[in-house]
Formats: sequence, C-alpha cells, structure tokens
Amino acid sequence: MDTPLSIYVLVDALGWEVVRNRRFLDDILPDRRWLTTILGYSSGAIPTLLSGRMPSQHGHWNLIYLDPERSPFRWTRALAPLPRPLVENRVARRVLKSAARRLSGYSGYFSLYDYPVAHLPYFDLTEKRDIYQPGGLDCPSLFDAFCGGGVRYECYTYHGHTDAQILEAAPQRAAVTDARVLFLYLSGLDAELHWHIHDPEHVKRTVDWYEAGLRRVWEAATRARSDVRMFVFSDHGMTPIRWTCDLRRDVATLGLSVPGDYLPAYDSTMARFWVWNDRARRVLSEFLAEHPCGQLMTPAELQRLGVAFEDGRYYHLLFLLKPGMLLCPSDMGAVRFAGMHGYHPSEPTADAVLLASVAVDRGVDHITGVHDVLLEDAGLRQGARRQDPIPVAPVGGA
Ligand SMILES: [Zn+2]
Repeated sequence: MDTPLSIYVLVDALGWEVVRNRRFLDDILPDRRWLTTILGYSSGAIPTLLSGRMPSQHGHWNLIYLDPERSPFRWTRALAPLPRPLVENRVARRVLKSAARRLSGYSGYFSLYDYPVAHLPYFDLTEKRDIYQPGGLDCPSLFDAFCGGGVRYECYTYHGHTDAQILEAAPQRAAVTDARVLFLYLSGLDAELHWHIHDPEHVKRTVDWYEAGLRRVWEAATRARSDVRMFVFSDHGMTPIRWTCDLRRDVATLGLSVPGDYLPAYDSTMARFWVWNDRARRVLSEFLAEHPCGQLMTPAELQRLGVAFEDGRYYHLLFLLKPGMLLCPSDMGAVRFAGMHGYHPSEPTADAVLLASVAVDRGVDHITGVHDVLLEDAGLRQGARRQDPIPVAPVGGA
C-alpha cells in the first residue's frame, strides 16, 4: 500500500522514569525525550495533550468542580435526611452512580470515586462528553482538527475496548485501513503502576507486554506499506509512594463545619477547599501553611502552572502534597497505592514521554507540545522543519 499511516499512541502513565533505563521500542522510536506534565491528573493532562492548551485555557482539570446549580446530583439532596449508612455503602453508591449517569446524559469518563454522597449535589463532572470524539472539549482538539482538515482517522480507546483488544485489533487495522491516522489510547498501564510500581519485575513484565503489542502494530503497518510513522506519548509518570497523610482527620480538628464554613475535596495528592467566610479562609490557610505534608499553593504559582480559574470552580484554596506522600484515605478511596501521580510538575517521576519514529523539534519539552507535533505530522500545520528519519543507533552500542 502506498497510502501513509501515522500511528499515535497515548499510553497512560508511561513515565520517563519507566522507559529511560530500558529498551522500549528504541529501534523503532529513536527520537526520545521526557515532557513536563501539568499539575493535575489525567482528567486535565489528556485534554492538554489533545488541545495543546493548559487547563486554565481548555477548562478541564480535576474530575469534579463546584457547580451546585448544574450538578447532575442535585436530586440526591432528597437523600440528605436518610441515615448515612443507608446511602454511604457500595450498593447505594452504584445505584446512585448509574442513575446520575443516565439522568445527566454525560458520555465521558463517569466516576464518583468515594466523594461523600452528601457533598455530591455541590459538584458537577468535568468530563461530560467522550473527549476522544470531535467536540469532546470546549475548545478544538486533535479530533476536531482531523475532521476539519479532512484527515481520516480511526480511534480506539477504553470506550468499548480493553488494552488487550486494542492491541489485538490495531495490527490488523494498521495493515488494511485507508485512514491517514490510527489513534490508540491505552489506559491499563496506569492501574498496573498504581499497584506495582515498587515491584521492578512486575513493572518490567507489564511494560514488556505493551512494548510487544506496539511492536506488532508497527510491524503489521510496515509490512503492508512503506510510509509509516509512530508517536508514543503519555500524560504523566508515576511517583512511588513512601508515606500517607490523613489530612481530613487533621482538618477536622479545626472546629470548622462542613458544608457550613467550607467544602473539601480530598483528591489523592491534593486537597481542594471552597471557603464560605473569612474565618474559614483564615483558619484553613494558617493551618495548611504550617502542615508538614505539603504546601499551600500561592495564586501566583497556580497561575504560572496554568491551573488558575477565575471563577474558583476547582478550588479556593489548594494544598498540594509532597511527592511520594499519598493523601489517604481520600475521596478517591482508602487504598494505599504503591504509586500515584498528580504531584508538582517539577518532580522528575512525574515526567511524561514523547517517543517518535521521526525527528521531532528539540524545543518540544512539555505535554502541550504534542498537539502541534501530531498536527504537523498529519499535514495540518506548517512545521518549522521537515521530519527526517533519524539513523538508528546499533543495539548494544555505547
Ligand atoms: Zn492513574
């Protein structure tokens, strides 16, 4: 076949720390670099990859944000008079989740994690639509660009497929498709690393499995056609956990009331607070400024990190834990994970990667840069330089 094919693979949590000291498709993808990620989770980082913009610009950051007027959980206020054990159990939460999902009509990633049912009516979910479709974000994404530019693409994600299914189907599609782009989102490595980052053997087996799967995609594509390019990139890395911190217990000693004085959201690596009066703001700020587990982020730094939001929907006060410190238990769960992400982007284990079969501009050093690299590759953007294949270093060389 002489139609070119570009294979774009987003591997969730494939950190630079995981690939830097091992062979991971080195022979196929000789252009390799780390990318600084954003402060936040995949819910903010993937829209950043897809749009080339920072969270404060594309609007997607953490999973939930304050919006009592439009909350898809408004109706759960009726449950407030019920005794807590009746609504705060696994079965009730599952029923509530499926009802809320149906009623909201949201088609994106839908999870309540462990956010207290009593707090849900204050919150709306960030991801209302499938972000891997055109129109998935409130700003143009890669998929809008493909559509607008007449670039035919096929996209395989966790919407309907496991990673094993994607890596099974992709080589076949790579051989026969007449699409210009094959986009794969592999989400399973993230979970493996959350549980097993401390176990090098397990990490090796898992990463080997992804490497072998992607190699099959490459080989099937290059057997069938002459012009194939591949870009493997990620949203963030994974930081090994060394300590936990029960921040909620500490905050509960301050004598402030929830939700009268403030409303908290305890994510895995950060605590977000919405404060309703000066006293709550002062007491919480003084307490957090002195807390040894992390830092109360200043508005200037949040601005610099591209996660400042004028309307305060994601937080009024943001406390970020030190790398390696897990907020546990949190509203994401009580599991003491082996690894977590969502720390300060300056933490080396937070770094994402960009691995490419062709040379990429050395200036690309942040996950915001991936968007333009891919658009240029797909012929949708004028690049600064032509992409030449780079010679492959002999395996085992210095
Ligand atoms: Zn994760």
